[in-house]
Amino acid sequence: MVKGKTAIVTGGTRGIGFSIVKTYLDNGANVALLGSRKDSVDAALAKLTEYGDRVMGLWPDLLNPEEVKRDFEAVRAKYGRVDILANNAGISSKTSFYDYTLDEFKKVMDLNVTAVFICAQAAARIMKEQGGGVIINTSSMVGEYGQPSGCSYPASKFAVNGLVKSLSRELAKDGIRVNAVAPGVTRTDMLANLPKEMVDRVSAGIPLGRVGEPEDIAHAYLYLASDEASYVTGLVLKVDGGART
Ligand code: NAD
Repeated sequence: MVKGKTAIVTGGTRGIGFSIVKTYLDNGANVALLGSRKDSVDAALAKLTEYGDRVMGLWPDLLNPEEVKRDFEAVRAKYGRVDILANNAGISSKTSFYDYTLDEFKKVMDLNVTAVFICAQAAARIMKEQGGGVIINTSSMVGEYGQPSGCSYPASKFAVNGLVKSLSRELAKDGIRVNAVAPGVTRTDMLANLPKEMVDRVSAGIPLGRVGEPEDIAHAYLYLASDEASYVTGLVLKVDGGART
């Protein structure tokens, strides 16, 4: 579905991001996998040797517009284009409101919102020149319902949705579609560390009766990146088994 296209995936070293990387590679795309450190990027690339030159790794500081621009240009230099940006890197928070520090609030907003803005702008400048592209941000079910602690996390995902709604309207004239995927509870490292009984309890509260797998989320990223979704923009696509908090 994305054969011959080039994708940049932030936070591509593990969890949902790694699954997006693999799904795009399996469907014929070239992929630049981004992580926060060289060692984690190298470890991820070591699991993808079968894809040869179709995958590359980079570790720009996502809060530094110059580094992001430099690395996105390096992707264009290697593969000729940048068709897809999967803005996936993110951190969550569970701290109580009364204990929240300004530093923690800013840290979550920085990666989950400011870095999404910086990467989207760098990608859109390239996409405009080449006549179009697709930006897909990662929202969350808590970007609709909020959550009872860690307030900066849902606030950041509401902001992500706001960027999707606004940028989809502003960039449509340049052939750039902007959407988001809003995962529910998904089996990544975070969940793997929880006791099985707790995961079973969470699963029982989800209408489809299970937590999401990273592949469930990656398939939504595949659809939204494909030409089959060429008339879809401004959408926040829920992939949550019908869960409601
Ligand atoms: P994860 O912790 O397994 O992976 C996070 C990724 O982000 C990693 O690749 C990491 O390298 C990268 N990252 C973290 N800090 C970074 C930084 N400062 N600079 C650059 N990259 C950094 O998380 P995940 O569960 O796979 O989540 C991925 C996305 O999905 C996030 O945006 C998260 O908010 C969202 N999400 C996850 C769930 C879930 O249940 N797992 C639910 C809803 C939304």
